[in-house]
Amino acid sequence: MSTIARALRPALRKGTGLTSSLRATPRSFNLARISTSLLQQQQNPRPLSTTPSCRNADMTELLPTPITHFSEVETAMRETVGKFASDMILPKVRDMDEAETMDKAIVEQLFEQGLMGVEIPEEYGGAGMNFTAAIIGIEELARVDPSVSVLVDVHNTLVNTAVVKYGSTELKKKYLPKLATETVGSFCLSEPISGSDAFALKTKAEETADGFKISGSKMWITNSMEADFFVVFANLNPDKGYKGITAFVVEKGAKGFTIAKKEKKLGIRASSTCVINFDDVEIPKENLLGDRGQGYKYAIGLLNEGRIGIAAQMTGLALGAFENAARYVWNDRKQFGQYVGEFQGMQHQLAQSYVEIAAARALVYNAARKKEAGEDFVKDAAMAKLYASQVAGKVSGLAVEWMGGMGFVREGLAEKFFRDSKIGAIYEGTSNIQLNTIARLLQKEYAA
Ligand SMILES: Cc1cc2nc3c(=O)[nH]c(=O)nc-3n(C[C@H](O)[C@H](O)[C@H](O)COP(=O)(O)OP(=O)(O)OC[C@H]3O[C@@H](n4cnc5c(N)ncnc54)[C@H](O)[C@@H]3O)c2cc1C
Repeated sequence: MSTIARALRPALRKGTGLTSSLRATPRSFNLARISTSLLQQQQNPRPLSTTPSCRNADMTELLPTPITHFSEVETAMRETVGKFASDMILPKVRDMDEAETMDKAIVEQLFEQGLMGVEIPEEYGGAGMNFTAAIIGIEELARVDPSVSVLVDVHNTLVNTAVVKYGSTELKKKYLPKLATETVGSFCLSEPISGSDAFALKTKAEETADGFKISGSKMWITNSMEADFFVVFANLNPDKGYKGITAFVVEKGAKGFTIAKKEKKLGIRASSTCVINFDDVEIPKENLLGDRGQGYKYAIGLLNEGRIGIAAQMTGLALGAFENAARYVWNDRKQFGQYVGEFQGMQHQLAQSYVEIAAARALVYNAARKKEAGEDFVKDAAMAKLYASQVAGKVSGLAVEWMGGMGFVREGLAEKFFRDSKIGAIYEGTSNIQLNTIARLLQKEYAA
C-alpha cells in the first residue's frame, strides 16, 4: 500500500479540508491509491461526472457542469501530483535533460506515489482510479517535465490498459501487481519500415510447441531503457495481412531480446527511445495477449485512448511554458522603466496564448469524459491531440521570445519546453494522421 493512499483515504472519507491537510504533511504529495470504493463513497458526485460511481445514473436529471470541473478525488490528484512534480522532479529536470537520462529515483518515486497504476484495479495493487484522474496526473507532470509525463503516460494509457483490457486472468495476476508497483512497461508497435502505416509491420511470430517465437525489430520505443515489460505487436499469420497481427508480452532478459540503439533526440531527452531487436525470442504460450489476429484492433483502441494522454501532456507543457514566462515578464524583467509584461504588445500575446491553452484543455477533458461515459470519442481524441500539440508548439515558442535572451539559454526551462513540444505532432499518430481521422469521420457524418 503506497503512502499516497494512506494520506488521502481518511481525509476523503471525512470530506474534510483535504487540500490544506495535504499541504501540511511532508509526504502529502503522495496521492495515487484512492480506491474505486472511495470514488463510490463520495457523497455528492459532480453532476454529469462520468466516473464509475454515477455512470449509470439517469443523465437527463443531472445538471450540466463545466468540462474542467473535477471530482474531489480528481482535484486531489491534481494538487498532490502538482506538488510532487515541483518538489521532487523540478530540481532534477535540467540535469536529466543534459544527461539524456531518466533519474532512477524519480521512477521509484512514481511507483511509490501510485502514479504507475492509476487505473489498475485495487485487487491487483493499483489505485483503481478513473481515466480522467490519469489524464490529470499526466498533465500535471508535463507542466514540470514532459519526459517524466510521457513515461507515466505510455505506462498507464497503453501498457497497463492493454493488460487490463485484453490480458488473461493469469497474465493479469502475474503482471498487474508488478506494473503497479515496480515494473515499467513499453509499447512496441513502430518499426523501421512502419510508422504512420503501423500495420505494415514486419516483425513475425511463429507458434512453437511451447509457445511463440518472435523475430524482427522495433523502433522508437519509449521507456525501453527503464522497462522490463514489453507489449509487442507481431504478425502471426502474414498471409492474412494486418489481420494476422497479434499482441504478446515479452520480458526484458528473454534470450534474443536486445536494446540495439538509444536515440539522441531534439526534445524529451530524458525519456528513453530505443531500437529493440528480437532474434528468435521464445516466449511461453501464456504470454499471448488477448486473441490471435486481434492485435491491430487492440492497437487502434489503445492508441485512441493514448492520444488523449498525449494531448494532456501537450496542454501541461503549454501551461508550464506559459507560467514560467508569465512569472518572468510580470515579476523579474523591466525595460523602459516597467515590467516587460506590462507592454500591451506583450499582454495581448499572453492573453491570446492563455485562451488557446484553455481551448485545448477543454478538448482534452471533453474527450476524456466522453471515453469514460462509454461514448464514441475517436474524433474528440484526434482533435484534442492535434490542437493541443499545435498550441504547445506555438505557446512554448512565444514563451522563449517573451523572455528574450533568457528564454534562449539552457539555464531555465523555456527553451526545453519549446524543444519538447515538437514531439506532440509526431508520436501516437502525426498531425496529418489526426487530420485524416477527423476528416474521415466528418465525411461519414456529412456525405450523402
Ligand atoms: C520520441 C518518440 C517516441 C516514440 N515512442 C513510440 C513507442 O513507445 N512505441 C511505438 O510503437 N512507437 C513510438 N514512436 C513512433 C511514432 O509513433 C512514429 O514516429 C509516428 O507514428 C510517425 O511515424 P514515422 O516516424 O515513421 O513517420 P512517417 O510515417 O514516415 O511520416 C513522415 C511524414 O509523412 C506524413 N504522412 C505519412 N502518412 C501520411 C498520410 N497517410 N497522409 C498524410 N501524411 C502522411 C506524416 O504525417 C509525416 O509528416 C515514437 C516516436 C518518437 C519520435
